[in-house]
Amino acid sequence: MSSVRARHTAVSDHSQRGSAVREGSHRVGPPSNTFAPTIVNDALRCAKGRIDSVLPHGLRRIADNCLVTEAEPILSYLTDMDGVLVHEDHLVPGADEFLAELRANATPFLVLTNNSIRTPRDLQARLRHTGLDIPEEAIWTSALATATFLNEQRPNGTAYVVGESGLTTALHEIGYVLTDSEPDYVVLGETRNYSFEAITTAIRLIERGASFIATNPDPTGPSRDGSLPATGSVAALITRATGRDPYYVGKPNPLMMRSALRRIGAHSQSTVMIGDRMDTDVISGLEAGMRTILVTTGISTRSSVEAYPYRPTMVLDSVADLVGRTKAPFAD
Ligand SMILES: [Mg+2]
Repeated sequence: MSSVRARHTAVSDHSQRGSAVREGSHRVGPPSNTFAPTIVNDALRCAKGRIDSVLPHGLRRIADNCLVTEAEPILSYLTDMDGVLVHEDHLVPGADEFLAELRANATPFLVLTNNSIRTPRDLQARLRHTGLDIPEEAIWTSALATATFLNEQRPNGTAYVVGESGLTTALHEIGYVLTDSEPDYVVLGETRNYSFEAITTAIRLIERGASFIATNPDPTGPSRDGSLPATGSVAALITRATGRDPYYVGKPNPLMMRSALRRIGAHSQSTVMIGDRMDTDVISGLEAGMRTILVTTGISTRSSVEAYPYRPTMVLDSVADLVGRTKAPFAD
C-alpha cells in the first residue's frame, strides 16, 4: 500500500472520529478526545505493511491488528445552501464555478436547505437571481424531506399545517389532505406569518392526539436586520403548552441526508456533504455515513471545530477551493 493510499484510509468515513483532519494545506493531528486513536495510529504505523486480506464492508486488514477502510471515490455531492453557496441574496464567490464543474462532469448533486418556506421552484428563482442556475430537481428542502417521511410513515394521511407554500405544496404532492378536523399530524414549518389562532389550533389538535412533526429545529434564521424567530422557537412554544416535543425531520436529523441520498440514487460512502455548520451539516453528514467538508464562509470557524467531539473530514475556506478537484477532493 502506498503512503498516499494510507493517508486516504486515515481520513475515510469509518475512522472519521479519530482521524487526522486537513485544514487547507495543513494537517492537524487527532484531537485529544478521539474515539479510536488506536485504529488511526495503527493505520498510519502499518502503512508500509502489505494487505493480508479483504473483509466485508470495505474493511481491509493490513498486517496484524490493522483494520482500516478503503477511501471510496467521490461520485456525488450534497451541499448546504446558505453560508455555502449563497449569503442571503449574494453569491459566495466561486460557488457558481463549483456547481458548473459538477454539472460539466455529470456529477450528481443536491442542494439542501432546512428552510421550509419556499418551494424548490421558488428557490430556483431566488438562486438564479444571485447568479446560480440550479434546476429545481436539484434542490432538497426540509419540507420535501418531511413530506417524504410522512408518505413512508402514513401514506395518504391528513395534516394541519402551520407553514407556508414550501410545506403545503410538498404535502399536497404526496396526496395529503390538509385539514383542521382530527388530522393525523400537526406539521409545523417555517413561516413569517405566525398567528395566535393557528398556534392555538395546533395546540388543541395535539392535545386531542395528533402527532407533532416539525420541519427543522433551527431556533432563529438570518436576516439583514438581525435574527428572526424560526421553527424551533415556535415549536418550543407549542411544546411548552402541550408537554409534547415534535419530531424534527430536517438537519441535524440524518434522516434528511438519507432521503436526499435516495433522491439522487447516491450511496453514503461515495458522497460528500458540504456545510457551514458543525452542529447541523457536519454532524448529520457524519451520522449518515458520509465524508464531510466544513467551509468557513458561514457560521462555524476553524477554531470552533475544536469545541466539538467530532470533526469534518476536511476544512476549507470556501467551496471555491474545490474547483478543479471535485472528482478527488481528498487527494493530495
Ligand atoms: Mg448553512
